[in-house]
Amino acid sequence: MPERRGRTLRLLLLMPLLVFAIQPGLASGQKSKPVENGEEAPVIAVRLYNLAEAPAKETVQARNEARRIFMQAGIGVRWLICALSLQKAQKNTACEEPSGPHDLDLVISTASITRPGIATDASLGFAFPLARQSQAVVLLERATKLAASSGVPAGIILGHSMAHEIGHLLMQSMEHSRAGIMRSRWGKDELHHAERGTLLFTPEQTIAMRNRLLKE
Ligand SMILES: [Zn+2]
Repeated sequence: MPERRGRTLRLLLLMPLLVFAIQPGLASGQKSKPVENGEEAPVIAVRLYNLAEAPAKETVQARNEARRIFMQAGIGVRWLICALSLQKAQKNTACEEPSGPHDLDLVISTASITRPGIATDASLGFAFPLARQSQAVVLLERATKLAASSGVPAGIILGHSMAHEIGHLLMQSMEHSRAGIMRSRWGKDELHHAERGTLLFTPEQTIAMRNRLLKE
């Protein structure tokens, strides 16, 4: 199927060392659109590839954190948990559904399996907002390391990294802001806000993302 092959190729381009991941599994998340102030909120579908084999505890917490952050921006997130081998894909068909205009791919990776030079030494992830199919990558061991040094749970840091990289994709920009979740670096203050659930998109970023989604 061209769709499947295209997705496989894209992932192989991104992670040349990894074998195949394509097809999905286990849908999670709501399918209906959340309603906000009587209006339907746009919903994005995120196909998640856990190449780093991040533990379930962290990935579930991370997904919930990212979903909460986007809900506060009036955007719903539907997670599709994709299988990483054709064998597993026999049973896991969640990612088989046709791609919609608001779909994007998110990979949980590690710096060691990511093409050298793409991630700086300190970055928690990176994104390709202009790729044909929007893609973002978060780096598990960077989140784990920051968790160990800050005391903030790794799942919370991972979830905020996911939201940050997805933010790049939705705004189609690699720009950073001076405040909020789109800051380029997170210090004590940002991590404190992350733990309290107050590290969020700015009102301008929220409007930019929603407008883009609503006009598509
Ligand atoms: Zn960034």
